[in-house]
Amino acid sequence: MLIISKDKETQALIDRVQEISGVDLSACYQCKKCTSGCPVSQVVQSSPAEIIRQLHLQAGDELLDSEIIWACASCETCTTRCPMGIDGAAVMDALRQISMQKNRAGQAQGKVALFNKAFLKTVELFGRSYEIGMIAAYKLGSGKLMSDTDKFPTMLKKGKLAILPPRGADKATVKRIFKKTKQK
Ligand code: SF4
Ligand code: SF4
Repeated sequence: MLIISKDKETQALIDRVQEISGVDLSACYQCKKCTSGCPVSQVVQSSPAEIIRQLHLQAGDELLDSEIIWACASCETCTTRCPMGIDGAAVMDALRQISMQKNRAGQAQGKVALFNKAFLKTVELFGRSYEIGMIAAYKLGSGKLMSDTDKFPTMLKKGKLAILPPRGADKATVKRIFKKTKQK
């Protein structure tokens, strides 16, 4: 259970989340349709509806330690179910961005943020995801160089991993998108 600090050292997050996500959270009336379809809420014992309620209640940086922020699979079930058109997936994405900006991601979910960063870097460089590059960056960052390496030959044999980076992507456009997003 999240304890919302009344003795605020940090500002409430709701304005920043609304600004980044473009979502008006005041429209949420806590029907919980988003939560009933969320595939991860039971596992992490938190839910998209709870996160929105905690934002309503002026939660600050303490909310960034919620496990669901990094467990969220961006499946958009919450988004499609909401009768008020609230984009729950965009809210989670905004919280991840704020978490990264405030360097709280590592505290919250160990290596998930590192994996996220490694994935995005390969998309930025190659225009598409490049699994081997992503795995290498993740392993270097996590220090777990030898973990799961026994699966590597089988995955290569079955064509699940490509040695060379992907070709054919519109790299210039993807780079431009990343540049604009960073400026924003
Ligand atoms: S489905 Fe929409 S209105 Fe209902 S709790 Fe979730 S975000 Fe709020
Ligand atoms: S986008 Fe995230 S929060 Fe929303 S239903 Fe999917 S996993 Fe749950």
